[in-house]
Amino acid sequence: MHTTKVKRILAIDDDGLVRKSLELFLKEAGYEPIVAESGEEALRILSGRHFDLLVTDIRMPGMDGLQVIQAVREYCRQMKKNPIPEIVLTAYNDERVKESVERLGVRNFILKPFRADEFLRILERSLNPC
Ligand SMILES: [Mg+2]
Repeated sequence: MHTTKVKRILAIDDDGLVRKSLELFLKEAGYEPIVAESGEEALRILSGRHFDLLVTDIRMPGMDGLQVIQAVREYCRQMKKNPIPEIVLTAYNDERVKESVERLGVRNFILKPFRADEFLRILERSLNPC
């Protein structure tokens, strides 16, 4: 028997309304979302669990999204796990933010408020590269 495993997504945003809508949207789309309100919380959740995708806000108190991405990559390296694909969520069409995210090698961006069809397309592409 062949079963398809539901993809687990770690979604981080300091805005409670965005977290709620991410959670509903991702569930509705057939994924298993786990939401975190900060990078610090996300790193606690990450330890010992498998995630298929990371979706993170950039501007947050405490660790920002860039720091979260670097910390998650470092965690995967230390744990000898495969790197987790990354999507950045940002409300700001800010070229400087975009540049620093791209410098980290992240190519998947979603501007908030997100459009469902665009978000799904980027999710699918990130989960199934090529
Ligand atoms: Mg924010």
